[in-house]
Amino acid sequence: MSGVRARFAPSPTGMLHLGSARTALLNWLFVRTSGGELLLRIDDTDAERSDRELEARILEDLSWLGLEWDLGPVRQSERAERYREALETLPVERRDGAYVFEDRVIARADGSALYHLATAVDDVDDAITHVLRGRDHLANAELQSALIRAIGAEPPVYVHAPLLIFDDGAKVSKREGDRATVAELRKEGFTAAALLNALALSLADFGTEELMFSAGEIAGRFELDRLHTADSRFDEAKLRWISGEHLRAMELSEFAAALADFGAGDLPEPALLAAQTGGQTLVECTALARMMVEPPPPDDAAIAAIDQTEVGVAYAVLDELVESWPPDVEQAKQVFAELKRQLKADGYNLGVCLRGLRAVFTGRTEGPEFPLLLACIDQSRWEAAGYYHH
Ligand code: GLU
Repeated sequence: MSGVRARFAPSPTGMLHLGSARTALLNWLFVRTSGGELLLRIDDTDAERSDRELEARILEDLSWLGLEWDLGPVRQSERAERYREALETLPVERRDGAYVFEDRVIARADGSALYHLATAVDDVDDAITHVLRGRDHLANAELQSALIRAIGAEPPVYVHAPLLIFDDGAKVSKREGDRATVAELRKEGFTAAALLNALALSLADFGTEELMFSAGEIAGRFELDRLHTADSRFDEAKLRWISGEHLRAMELSEFAAALADFGAGDLPEPALLAAQTGGQTLVECTALARMMVEPPPPDDAAIAAIDQTEVGVAYAVLDELVESWPPDVEQAKQVFAELKRQLKADGYNLGVCLRGLRAVFTGRTEGPEFPLLLACIDQSRWEAAGYYHH
């Protein structure tokens, strides 16, 4: 044991947002690299705004992200006596009954501790060696270390990381509502691996050109002096790109299980393969896969595309080429190549033919690779599509 101990201290007054998850990741990376321990502390001195249900959701989101802690969770609300005891030893003034230390209120008139006192006492009692948090807490460090010295202890090392901000410069925090909570992004179909990857990129330079990596891969490569020096913008386009890369890197069985969580139901392998290459989030992939086995009613573009005489010709050629539906992916590739060859040789407009066929089978004029689509069509769907064959 290196003796290093850090803590992550969320307030259970809102859902875990990306900014807070990023602080958790910072601490997690730091202890994983330094061989230290991570304590999870619940900052719930504000009884009115703190909520046990939210606390449980924060723990759940942290676990889902894989940011496991070694010690805790401990709640500040359960340490009231200890704070009172510490308060008695401190050189405080009373103002309107409240307890004031260096011009800041640290305890209410009833003697109950506020955030700064509770945090200073805890950081001492919990033997915290490193406090790693966002730059929005920079101004707190001076007061907290003064409190710690007054208690008779040595302050920890404080590191205040640049923040994650939105395009308009606002910091990503719980006050933004659902805009960037972990739970919301999870619901939108981002994986934990993708979120951690994006957060890590926004946090530090890991000495690699690679944009895509797992948290485990970088855990041993983190150094505090690699932290970015400027605030990072929450870049949704980049998150989406990273998310797609992580989905494509998954084993097919793992990907299928992830889609199942989004209600994808039973899917043939070609639908899974198409979904894995076609979407950036699990929600998009699920929609894509569903559309291959259970097409939506054709939209206007699809109706127009179907309504072309060439489509009937293409259908007839396919009917000749496929012996039994569905063809497997290899057969479907060969059939597709042959279909294109014949249509071209007979002077048909390939684009019109394929758009129309695609519209017949998916209700849309754009979508997954054609051979994968063919490999999802069973005999009954093939016959039902014959309706369009005029
Ligand atoms: N509870 C504070 C927050 O959620 C963190 C306090 C600290 O790290 O000292 O921002």
